[in-house]
Amino acid sequence: MRSHSDVAGTGGPRPPAVGRLLRHPDVVVLAARHGRAATAAAAKTAVAEVRAGTSASGEERALAKRVAQLLDGSPRQLRRVINGTGVVIHTNLGRAPLAARAAARAANLAAGYSNLELDLRTGRRGDRHSLLADILRRVVGVEEAMVVNNGAAAVLLALTALCRGREVLVSRGEAIEIGGSFRIPDILRLSGAKLVEVGTTNRTRVSDYERACTPRTVAFLRVHQSNFRMTGFTERPRLADLAAAAHRSGLHLLEDVGSGLLPPAPAGAAFEARLGRSRSDGADLIFCSGDKLLGASQAGLVLGRAELVERLRRHPLARALRPDKLQLAALEETLLCLEEPGGLEQVPVWAMLRADPRRLRRRSERWAERLRRIGLPAEVTSTEGAVGGGTTPGDPLPSYGIHIPCPRPGVVRRRLLAAETAVLCLERPGGIVIDARCVLPGEDGPLIATLAGVLGPAT
Ligand SMILES: *Cc1c(COP(=O)(O)O)cnc(C)c1O
Repeated sequence: MRSHSDVAGTGGPRPPAVGRLLRHPDVVVLAARHGRAATAAAAKTAVAEVRAGTSASGEERALAKRVAQLLDGSPRQLRRVINGTGVVIHTNLGRAPLAARAAARAANLAAGYSNLELDLRTGRRGDRHSLLADILRRVVGVEEAMVVNNGAAAVLLALTALCRGREVLVSRGEAIEIGGSFRIPDILRLSGAKLVEVGTTNRTRVSDYERACTPRTVAFLRVHQSNFRMTGFTERPRLADLAAAAHRSGLHLLEDVGSGLLPPAPAGAAFEARLGRSRSDGADLIFCSGDKLLGASQAGLVLGRAELVERLRRHPLARALRPDKLQLAALEETLLCLEEPGGLEQVPVWAMLRADPRRLRRRSERWAERLRRIGLPAEVTSTEGAVGGGTTPGDPLPSYGIHIPCPRPGVVRRRLLAAETAVLCLERPGGIVIDARCVLPGEDGPLIATLAGVLGPAT
């Protein structure tokens, strides 16, 4: 039996130099079959894995085997990862997992031709941007809608098509960075619109906007403060008041809501803007992502007044920001789920957000028991997950998971990521934690097997 400290990667021989590994008889055979360059690259990877602690043995024979593995069954670069973090919309993990129905729909569509740009009623050329307009109108309750590649693209397109060369007023508290270097001031510059900041960082009033209006002003841009929260002495106009002020001056009110929220919000997400509500409060155009709280594919939704949406559709930039058929297929199917009574549970983001903590606890208990039976001292622990995706900061999702003690959690974390079934866990002092909330149905078996393989006693 190996002890836990062995598993943590301290023991074992140092890896040989790449040159020496290439002279190993098994590797020489591989080089004859796969070519020297590819074999050398694989050997380099195998040695690097040992140095990084993601591969257990630096022994030459084991390394030669690893080189063969790398050359033959190259693992895919894009792979499934079991999400043990408790963060539901995890940007590093591809945000929303799709509903099974949505994934199947995308796969089916992908395997054949489709009417992506063909109007089946007239036989004439159709517009992919408007393909989902009907269902969006129905589900969100807006008069017009279009879909682009992602949320950032929606904002960029609208600012370019409607505000280029003119002034756009943004509250100082909303000239923010969303992450992944999406910064509101940068997007405005890129669009050719001029950003005029109004108010102060913590307090902005309708009168601040009104005072800053000039003949060159074209719109107010309201941005959801997605990933941070201001508390204390703060003030922000109600959307309806801001819309009224914009319309009195003949200007547009554009709202970047970020996440978008359709179904009844679970406790933690009550703070997110509601799409239909934004429109009825007077926002002329609303932008949001498809793969955050909507729980669908990567996409950017533009919702609101028909004549403005039409201008976006006709703008040449729309061509560069267009969505792909797979995105649209998955988005349409997810919207159908959200529209159905009881369909919410089919959308993984919503099923996870609404998961009953008592069930998460029972599931964690079952995992801990299975692991203890194979000699791993796992224990149930309470955890704090998050909605994620730059939504509802500071609102933790109380949850349950398992804690597995190990001396070097950082090393174990890397090994779990390098395992055949990659697992992303949380590092805690003296151990790792797997939060049960985002481990999908059907992933229990592979999760336990991977934990056993990486942490368990060798059999
Ligand atoms: C996430 C977000 C975006 C960017 O959307 P993507 O779909 O990631 O491009 C823009 N604005 C806000 C407020 C956001 O939260």
